[in-house]
Amino acid sequence: MDYQLETMVIHADADLSSEKGVAPAIHYSAVFKAEDSAEFIAMSSEPQHPRNYTRYGNPVHERVKTVMAQLEGTETALVTASGMGAIATTVLALVKAGDHVIGQRRHYMSSSKLLDDMLPRFGIEVTLVEQEDAAAFEAAIRPNTRLILLESPVNPVLMLTDIAAVTRVARAHGILTMADNTFSSPINQRPHDLGVDIVIHSATKYLGGHHDMSGGVICTSKALAEEIWHTHITLGAVLSPMDAWLLLRGLRTLPMRVERINANALALARFLEQQPQVERVYYPGLESHPQHELARTQMQGYGGVVAFGVRGGYAEAERFVAALQIPHNAGNLGGVDSLAIHTAAMWAGTMSPAQMQAADIPLNFVRYSVGIEHVEDLKRDVLQALATL
Ligand SMILES: *Cc1c(COP(=O)(O)O)cnc(C)c1O
Repeated sequence: MDYQLETMVIHADADLSSEKGVAPAIHYSAVFKAEDSAEFIAMSSEPQHPRNYTRYGNPVHERVKTVMAQLEGTETALVTASGMGAIATTVLALVKAGDHVIGQRRHYMSSSKLLDDMLPRFGIEVTLVEQEDAAAFEAAIRPNTRLILLESPVNPVLMLTDIAAVTRVARAHGILTMADNTFSSPINQRPHDLGVDIVIHSATKYLGGHHDMSGGVICTSKALAEEIWHTHITLGAVLSPMDAWLLLRGLRTLPMRVERINANALALARFLEQQPQVERVYYPGLESHPQHELARTQMQGYGGVVAFGVRGGYAEAERFVAALQIPHNAGNLGGVDSLAIHTAAMWAGTMSPAQMQAADIPLNFVRYSVGIEHVEDLKRDVLQALATL
């Protein structure tokens, strides 16, 4: 039967096991036994066998893969130990020395490191383009371009990439596209519907949703998944069965959590826009966002990350974040607990405020990842913290 999303995330994996428990079992075994030598041969020769060796596959992985493929609308999925495990494994599976890769000037920090530093060391050429300019991707294409990396929205000011425009061009040139969909979750954005070949997630964020596990997901076609899987078992970024189980539990409530987070974040962003001590609010759901029209066409919701500058500089942002009572001062996003960080503080150990200013790091920026708490409490908390400025 075809289910609506809310039903699917709870029941899509039900047929995968003959177990009688209503809750799925955690299969901690690193290895599974065969009944006879014919079964051992079958287990050993089938890629991604769910009951052979956990680095190759595991029954809990199998359940997560089934739910994730349906969430992103792809044929299948793979799971990894972290979001970076998913990104690095996919890129390294698909490119070789002499190939050219196009990425964005702004990506998640470790993805930028992969593009700027690691790929060139393996003889792979990389061009980075401004993501707001869809034509820049086409202009960067060379005869040896193999892969285009997309990520939308992106830190720190939540700029967007016109996903459909880029995939149209990529397909016309026979180039693969890969999108990091972590900031949206499949509830708010489905890149495969917009033409992307491979959709990646850090499951550590919305998918797990409780700040209690690390994981990654790769959603794609069966053919590409098999190709990537061979690199995956070589690199070995294997999701632990316990974390796979926590991820599966998180996915059961994903539609409900994201719906609440979207509503809370939009209300908080509008509220922040009205405060005189707030300089500027960046959120794709606000009419003031420079790409709001694109957000409305390619996203179904705008997510939980709201970025804003408080009036003043480094010290004022520091004081504001310290005065917040509800969000934890921690650098994750997409979970049930709200989190807030002073963005520039991530560089404070290695750079002076003057150096940061020269490097274009805004000193007064706050990144607020909105959780599922009551929004009136979040607003009151923000007000009392702004009053300390
Ligand atoms: C966190 C994050 C990653 C990396 O995920 P890990 O699970 O920490 O490895 C990649 N991309 C984005 C957009 C992220 O927010």
